[in-house]
Amino acid sequence: MDFTHNQEQRAFYASVLEFAAKVVEPGAHERDVESRFDRDVWNQLGGFGLLGLPIPEEYGGSGADIITTCLALEALAEGGHDAGLGLSVGAHVTIGTVPIFLHGTEAQKRKYLPKLCSGEWIGAMAITEPEAGSDTAAIKCRAVRDGDEWVINGSKIFITNGSIADTVIVIAVTDPDAGAGAGVSAFIVEKNTPGFVVDRDLDKMGTRSSPLSLLHFDDCRVPAENMLGEEGSALWKIAFECFDWERTVMIAGSVGAMKASLDASIKYAKERVAFGKPIARHQAIQHKIAEMKAYYDAARLVLYRAAWLKQEGLPHEVEASVAKYFVAEAGMRNALEAVQIHGGYGYIKEFPVERAIRDAKLISIGGGTSEIQKMIIARNLLS
Ligand SMILES: Cc1cc2nc3c(=O)[nH]c(=O)nc-3n(C[C@H](O)[C@H](O)[C@H](O)COP(=O)(O)OP(=O)(O)OC[C@H]3O[C@@H](n4cnc5c(N)ncnc54)[C@H](O)[C@@H]3O)c2cc1C
Repeated sequence: MDFTHNQEQRAFYASVLEFAAKVVEPGAHERDVESRFDRDVWNQLGGFGLLGLPIPEEYGGSGADIITTCLALEALAEGGHDAGLGLSVGAHVTIGTVPIFLHGTEAQKRKYLPKLCSGEWIGAMAITEPEAGSDTAAIKCRAVRDGDEWVINGSKIFITNGSIADTVIVIAVTDPDAGAGAGVSAFIVEKNTPGFVVDRDLDKMGTRSSPLSLLHFDDCRVPAENMLGEEGSALWKIAFECFDWERTVMIAGSVGAMKASLDASIKYAKERVAFGKPIARHQAIQHKIAEMKAYYDAARLVLYRAAWLKQEGLPHEVEASVAKYFVAEAGMRNALEAVQIHGGYGYIKEFPVERAIRDAKLISIGGGTSEIQKMIIARNLLS
């Protein structure tokens, strides 16, 4: 395995870091407080080429490989301090856009990808339902063929970008008799389609600058040509592939956030004086900093191992789950330690480390919970 980033990748990382510090970081605190998605910042991300990262240039993307896509998401989080925006970008790119590139017809690619890659349109993926989260095969949202259309009925919950999306890829049952996991298809549903209803945005603990929505599909008719991929194969081929992208690429933002917390803690420890010397000279604080560095390095390594295996087309189910599980654990642990190092100030909302705890918690839930990752790892080891 070679985790070395080449000169071009390092330069790209630095340029995204600088862009994020300049464009994303200002106003990140206010967007968290107000729970506000900022379209202007989004448009600038599009202009910088961050909204179609792994999509080939012929469809309007940046043609980045998997590792470079991870680097961009990592740098965006490290420099931008806005995990909500990072979540919106990650969901838009990896689960709202990539499936159209990987499974779309040529006509679908030409119609949707240029607008999604430029940021003119926003993408979302709707798998989760009020009664089906970890147990994806239990989804009930139903699509029934009627002539040249499919009629979708059902609800989807916890959909990142749901209320602002121009396209939502909806996973629905098309053949209820096909047996567990089969008979599930995907549809590209456009924003103004009659019967596509945004119920409301949910008030979140963290990643608050990214909308999280409850959606309903009430006799929502989509043209037959909006089916994405083969009929009946979407659970394994599209939904599970999306989970893989979340576990090998999207979590890069959490690693970037860990670096931001570590840097903030080092800076604070050098400045804050207690008992006549900077707290950085108290061994208890030195140990915390050392441990944060060790967890950050380990999280970054397991992320890039999984991403590299994915890029090389090698099997990586266990490595993806190890990465997802460990980045979630390490991210939460380091976020808590960063607050501890900041003392009372760490508990105050004006300091980004307070926000980092609320943001970090998501990683053990979204894209497959930590319990599910452990189940996958153990199943592979014990089979
Ligand atoms: C901020 C955010 C963004 C999200 N974005 C999207 C999105 O864009 N699109 C989308 O489709 N979904 C999205 N989700 C949904 C997310 O993927 C689900 O919340 C997640 O898969 C867990 O499902 P659940 O919430 O229904 O929990 P449940 O599946 O009900 O789980 C509840 C608890 O039981 C545990 N559990 C369940 N089954 C088992 C088992 N077999 N063994 C051991 N423990 C188990 C879980 O680990 C968890 O601790 C998002 C969620 C959040 C919070």
